Parts: sequence; structure tokens; C-alpha cells
Amino acid sequence: MSLRSFLDQMETKGEILHIKDAVSTRFEIPFIMKKCDEECPVLLFEKLKKYKTKVVANVCGTRKRICEALTMDQNDLYDRLVEAWRSPRKPEIVEDSSLKEVVERPDLYKIPVLTHFENDAGPYVTSAVIHAKSVDGNVENVSVHRLQVLDERHLAIRLVPRHLYELWRMAKEAGKDLDISIAIGVHPAVMLAASSPVPFGVNEFDVANVLMNNNLHLIKCEHVDAYAPADAELVLEGRISASRTVVEGPFVDVTGTYDVERKQPVVEIVGVMHKDNYVYQAVLPSGSEHMLLMGLPHEVLMWEAISKVVPKVHIVNLSRGGSGWLHVIVSIEKQLEGDGKNALLAAFAAHPSLKHAVVVDTDIDVYNVSDVEWAIATRFQASKDLIIIENARGSTLDSSADQETGLTTKLGIDATRPLAKPRDKFERARIPMSKHVEELSRKLLGK
Ligand code: MN
Repeated sequence: MSLRSFLDQMETKGEILHIKDAVSTRFEIPFIMKKCDEECPVLLFEKLKKYKTKVVANVCGTRKRICEALTMDQNDLYDRLVEAWRSPRKPEIVEDSSLKEVVERPDLYKIPVLTHFENDAGPYVTSAVIHAKSVDGNVENVSVHRLQVLDERHLAIRLVPRHLYELWRMAKEAGKDLDISIAIGVHPAVMLAASSPVPFGVNEFDVANVLMNNNLHLIKCEHVDAYAPADAELVLEGRISASRTVVEGPFVDVTGTYDVERKQPVVEIVGVMHKDNYVYQAVLPSGSEHMLLMGLPHEVLMWEAISKVVPKVHIVNLSRGGSGWLHVIVSIEKQLEGDGKNALLAAFAAHPSLKHAVVVDTDIDVYNVSDVEWAIATRFQASKDLIIIENARGSTLDSSADQETGLTTKLGIDATRPLAKPRDKFERARIPMSKHVEELSRKLLGK
């Protein structure tokens, strides 16, 4: 299983839009990606100005496509992800693969890295799946990081203080640079596993292998002590410097606003290998794909946590309007008064970046903002059903939060219907449908 095999699958289903006109990596490709961001097919840019490589975008752009890649129904997705997180399995290590068709001297300028937004610091790799080991070899980690191209052999890496940061800090303490592999163009299961909030010490490649039914194969890098998916399109071998830092950014993050500039470590690229006609994978910052890859695993965390405090959680949606990160809409089967508030508290506990949360009944479509607004309009009383938590830690991605400490105010809305009032008072009136009108409607309106 590879990105290539998934693209073949999508081609058969007619889910790839081929763009044959020559386009530039600087703003032109991102502009088209942004134009057709929502519920849009995979985009394959076949002709680039200045490069011979093709660029693929929007691979994990919809929930439906992610489920197709993992060959599972959306109803099973959360269960299957939890199972993979809990019982990871080691992938097979192979000696040779098509990834080694071209092994060459590092030159980042030969790769069609996109420059996305007007004031971005420069070209950024946004689909990099990075593997590293701790210096003692006991811990392995795989995660996604943005990489700013500095020159033909150097990148700046944004290290949020999580697992890779910790491995780098441990290496630094031992006076060493940290070896990494940077894989670009991988199967969606690898992207999703690398974005999963599993504990430090769990190797996300093992999680991907479970999601891929034991079909992930890894290859050892030649110049560094790290592994990469054997059928990735392109792999850069590098070292994160223990001492050298550079100002990274500005760069647009998931909210569509510019993240602040920070001093971040420099990565030196020491080796490059790729398929003969490799396809470069692009992810648009703040696009649907970015939101889904970042948010979906956290929906699972919330779903698990809320399931422990209310009898049945229906759907958890980190909504697009909240950048797939700051707003959640949850539908539950309410049994007792107060279930809605407990669901809100569990959601905030499970996803610390969460800022605003809405809980609705299962007859409300959590993916339809008007439907959710209707529930707030007809089932919610601010004096009773609102929770406000001041000075909690949130996300610095929210421009209105304290940018140093991340302190923010959180707000929860319980828009489930009150059980004390008659149920029919809250039900949407229906119009009876005859066979005749059903057929007529399909003929006239196509639905
Ligand atoms: Mn990790």
C-alpha cells in the first residue's frame, strides 16, 4: 500500500482532477488548491513551470476519502483508530524498494516546494512525515512538521514541544545532532498515524501498520539512523542541529492567520532518494486536509472521553468554521438532565486546545451549521445552559488567546432539548410524503 496505489484507486473512481496547464509552485498551485478546497477531488498538477515533477494535493481532503483509503466505514473509523493506537504492530523492514531508484546529492531547489501565502517566509514543505530515534535507541517517533527551505541543503523545522522536540532535546543533552528521515508522498494511513496523539514511546509507524493491515514496509536510510516507508515517493535524510537555530516564519497555520516568528532548529540534508518519476505531495495550510489530519484524531479522543460520561455519543465534529481545531459540535443521546453539560466538560478535558463547544441531540446534523444554529435557537437558554471557564489553557493558534501563555476563555453551549418539557415541542414538523410527490420531487429537483 502506497500513495501511488491509493491514487490509482482514486483514478478508477474518477476522483482525480488532472490539471494539465503549466502552473507555478509560487502561489499559483496554492491558489487553485484554495479555490477548490471543500469536498473537492484529489488534484494532480501534471505540468509545472521550472520543474519536471508532478504535484499531488488534497489527498486526504475529505472524510470520505480518508475512510476509503483505510477501507473502512465512517461509523467504524473511531473504533478502528483507537484499536490501532492501543495495539500497534511492528512493520516489516525491507532491503530494497522503488524509493532507491534515484539516490542523489541533496539539492532542495530541485524539489517543487510550494510558497503558499503572500507573507510566508518562503517555500515550505507541509507533508513531511518525520521519523527519529532517541539516542539510546529505546524510543522511536513519527510526526508531521512544517519545514522552511533555507538553501539547497538546509531547512528550518518547527518543533512544537512534543515528542520529536523531546528526542531532539535528549540528543542535544548528549551533545549530538538528531538523525531524521523526512518522507514526502505517503499513504493516507501513514499521514493519519503520524498525526495521532499516541503517548511518547509509541512508534506511529507501528500504528500505521495496523491501519494498513500489516502492509507497511520500512527501509533503513543510508546516511542516517532512521527508517522511512519503503514506498514513499521521496525521502530526505537529515540531521536536526543541536546548536544551530534560525528565525522560522512567518507562516500561515491551520486558522488561516500568520503564526508568529520563532527561533527554531536547522536541519541539514545529507541524502536524497526518490522514485524515478516521483510525485511531490502538497498540503495546503488551513485547507480542509490540514484541518482533518490535525483534527480527526482529536475527535477520537473527545469521543472516547465523552463516551465515559454519557450513555451514547453519536458524532463529534471539529468544525471547519473553527479551523478543525478550536470548535467542536457533538451529538449525544441524552438520557438524563445534565448529560449535555457533562459532555461539554469531557470534551474540554480531552482536547486542551478546544475553545467553544456545542452539544446537540442526535436529530441535529453536526456537519450542518444551520441545523446546529437551529438547535441553539430553539433548545438553548443562556442563563441555564451555558458554561464559561475563564483563564484556562487553550491554543496560541487562536489569535485572541494570550499568545505567550495560551490562556483563554472557554465556552460551552448545551443545546440539547430540556427533558422536563414535552418532547413534541422540540421536534421539527414534517410534511407527509406520497409516492407520487416523492417521484415528482426526484424528477424536478433530483432529490
Ligand atoms: Mn509520538
